[in-house]
Amino acid sequence: MHYQSTRNPSLTATASQAVLRGIAPDGGLYMLPGFSEAQFPMERLAALSACEISATVLALLLPDFTQAEMTGLVQAAYRSKFETEDLTPLVQVGDRYVLELFRGPTSAFKDIALSALPHLITASKAKNGIQEDILILTATSGDTGKAALEGFCDVPGTRIVVFYPNGGVSAIQKSQMVTQKGKNVAVCALNGNFDDAQSGVKAIFARCEAENPLRGRARLSSANSINIGRLAPQVMYYFKAYADLLRRGRISMGDAVDFAVPTGNFGDILAGCIAKRMGLPAGRFICASNANNVLSDFLHTGVYDRRRTFYKTLSPSMDILISSNLERLLYLVSGCDGEAVAGYMRDLASQGYYRLAPDALSAIQAELLAGWAGDAATVAAIRRVYEAHGYLLDTHTAVAWDVAERLGGGNPMVVLATASPYKFPSAVLCALGGEAANGLDEFARMRRIHEITGLPIPPGLRDLEALPALHGDVVERQDMFRYVLSKAGDAQ
Ligand SMILES: *Cc1c(COP(=O)(O)O)cnc(C)c1O
Repeated sequence: MHYQSTRNPSLTATASQAVLRGIAPDGGLYMLPGFSEAQFPMERLAALSACEISATVLALLLPDFTQAEMTGLVQAAYRSKFETEDLTPLVQVGDRYVLELFRGPTSAFKDIALSALPHLITASKAKNGIQEDILILTATSGDTGKAALEGFCDVPGTRIVVFYPNGGVSAIQKSQMVTQKGKNVAVCALNGNFDDAQSGVKAIFARCEAENPLRGRARLSSANSINIGRLAPQVMYYFKAYADLLRRGRISMGDAVDFAVPTGNFGDILAGCIAKRMGLPAGRFICASNANNVLSDFLHTGVYDRRRTFYKTLSPSMDILISSNLERLLYLVSGCDGEAVAGYMRDLASQGYYRLAPDALSAIQAELLAGWAGDAATVAAIRRVYEAHGYLLDTHTAVAWDVAERLGGGNPMVVLATASPYKFPSAVLCALGGEAANGLDEFARMRRIHEITGLPIPPGLRDLEALPALHGDVVERQDMFRYVLSKAGDAQ
């Protein structure tokens, strides 16, 4: 079973090669053509722990590795790093369920994948006999950067460079990144938005593929969800939520469960679509966007049009107009037609939009519902849920909750909670009615939220205030390549 480029199925790679490369040589993303050989043993699901589910999913999706290898890797990735043994607790809130994906070291869902990715990369290097350092290039809308820095910090044989949009991440997210320690890490602000950072990183991959300027010194890979090694560990928590519902007697095996997913780069929700193809009885996936509602428009009309205003919202990790992983779903629903996918991506690059073939659109609409919530609706949802249920949502989760309230049907609904509310203290405090908070800094706002709600502040966020800023680099788009070369030990 080989991975294929979404733009050309004859460009194949083993799972470990795909993890090491991050992106296919033609700019496509690595994907499996089908999942018949990766069916999850559903009859055993209810008896499996979170770590066992994770190891099983990873061994099925990355078949270079045995189940025993994955068990060791999962232990090393998660042991004593997460607040709870079950990694991703499922909490009932009213008549819905919230799947808490933010109990890891950096308080966002990215920790699930980025705790595992360094181990996957190190093991893939060994399998392929690679000696050079792996240089991880990452564009972040706020949360991937810190989770990746934390995951790769001082991992032997790796280096990491993170680009974040200058002024485009929350104060806490920025503080998390610029205080990062480690001898192999670099953090740099880019004058542009997340889409600029991501397209800049993709362009560096293309240039290195063509010119090979790092020859013999380092190989590039990615910690963004364009890397299948970043996506595969996320598939686990859809199974985990289903297992929890089974164990609590809320569903019987085979019942459909819906999932509402706050979506930006389309990675998390795609992991759900993969879980479904591996045999999870998922019903509908609700793709929830903020005011950058390009995906919601696309899922209704079949036209993906990025020629629109970019908004900075209260849910910055979803401020994205080019959702990379959608390409993988297009590949699946168009029957692995690489030429069709390459055509869409060419249209998007040259004209700023593409129109999906009608068959492919119907296939996507059968699987996904879509809606969006603006900032006012987001804040109102945080307040409403806290008042009704005493449960505090972060701004991203609130977007998904709001859309789920409008689009949910008869199936049990799991809302994915992608970050701790303490990562976005101004918006959350405002929702709690803390108008008098004007003039407080973010840390004072965290303490105020704690006074109001009694919820513990995650130590990783609480202690940031005392840490020195170590990274102050800022670059323009045209300087990203040179910056990366300099971090690879090149004097150019
Ligand atoms: C990254 C992120 C998202 C969006 O996830 P995608 O996989 O990019 O769709 C949503 N919420 C939070 C808090 C995030 O960090």
